[in-house]
Amino acid sequence: MAAPDISAALPSPLLARRRSVAVNVGGIWVGGEHPIVVQSMTNTDTADVAATARQAAELARAGSELVRLTVNTEAAARAVPAICDELQRQGLDVPLVGDFHYNGHLLLQRYPACARRLAKYRINPGNVGIGNKDDENFRAMIAVAVAERKPVRIGVNWGSLDQALLTRMMDANAQRPRPLQAAEVLRQALVESALQSAAAAERYGLPHDAIILSAKVSGVPDLVAVYRALAARCDYPLHLGLTEAGLGLKGIAATSAALALLLAQGIGDTIRASLTPRPGGDRAEEVRLCQQVLQSLGLRSFTPQVTACPGCGRTTSTFFQSMAEQIQAYLRERMPQWKTEFPGVERLRVAVMGCVVNGPGESRHADIGISLPGAFEEPKAPVYVDGRLLRTLHGDRLVAEFLEILETYVRSRYGANAPAPVSESR
Ligand code: SF4
Repeated sequence: MAAPDISAALPSPLLARRRSVAVNVGGIWVGGEHPIVVQSMTNTDTADVAATARQAAELARAGSELVRLTVNTEAAARAVPAICDELQRQGLDVPLVGDFHYNGHLLLQRYPACARRLAKYRINPGNVGIGNKDDENFRAMIAVAVAERKPVRIGVNWGSLDQALLTRMMDANAQRPRPLQAAEVLRQALVESALQSAAAAERYGLPHDAIILSAKVSGVPDLVAVYRALAARCDYPLHLGLTEAGLGLKGIAATSAALALLLAQGIGDTIRASLTPRPGGDRAEEVRLCQQVLQSLGLRSFTPQVTACPGCGRTTSTFFQSMAEQIQAYLRERMPQWKTEFPGVERLRVAVMGCVVNGPGESRHADIGISLPGAFEEPKAPVYVDGRLLRTLHGDRLVAEFLEILETYVRSRYGANAPAPVSESR
């Protein structure tokens, strides 16, 4: 039988990145051809310097490249410089973003040190009365941004959409011969609010390349529709996020779906996951989720990836799950040191497989992989390195021996004397 024709490559599932201007946020570039930036937000009382600095440091150490904090009171505005100082004392120069609502014009004017130390201001047009009699509030915030040479995110949210604009659009829609559904008008109002506010900011003197836009909603299809419209109508960098994504699995799944749909269409320059942590939970989970979405799409690399099969009736003991967990934990534990010693190690791919069905094949696709014996197989575990069988392990020290091989592999492939880097798409 003749071989099938493979002269045409399969189409890429990811569309080319949308072209946007690049905005400098305290030394971190957002947009243009710069990598998609991961950001996060604290949930401490900003006026509590120690607690906020501690959480901002945790977020930064987890990999958040920008950290936003609410600046909602005079005490919070006063605390900002001290939080910056504490982070710098710890050797962390992560840019801080101030989130302003209602009284941002007053706080930015009264607390110049706060205005100076923040790297960017987030302004919610729905909460500053843009287009109304108190448009002066918006103008005052932009004036501070211009004077301090700070970029601004115009952050629209459907929970606090500019009601005057929405009412005008609803009224105009009602006059149409065939009015649109109210939900559609709402989506269009989000887009208009963002674009009109950005135009006003430019009229008030903010440079075009100092503006980032977002228009967040909590439903995935709505979010995708809104961002596609925004992306088509401007070249400002876009901050993506599903607002109020929720708790646990629902928040993770909905955020991942929303971000992936948009990123796959080339839309998005910086991302945040608005997860609701459990009481006392780990806030940095939102950072790791963003990193994992980007790495799963092949857009950035942050940490070695473990491919593990789910296990099935062929793996009847818990040995397989426990081994996969131990290897994952080892990678997590070693990464802080590996990152500094072995550049590129974040692209390492490890396979941990349960039996002979897919084990050897998947292991060969990884950089290093192990395939355990299923319940009814001979008790031996072949280890593959760079696609070739290296050794077969037996007995009680199987996990420890695999970790020794892994350590040696990382040193030889990513260490100072390693050969030239190997292409990722082997
Ligand atoms: S690789 Fe083997 S153990 Fe793992 S899911 Fe497939 S058949 Fe089951």
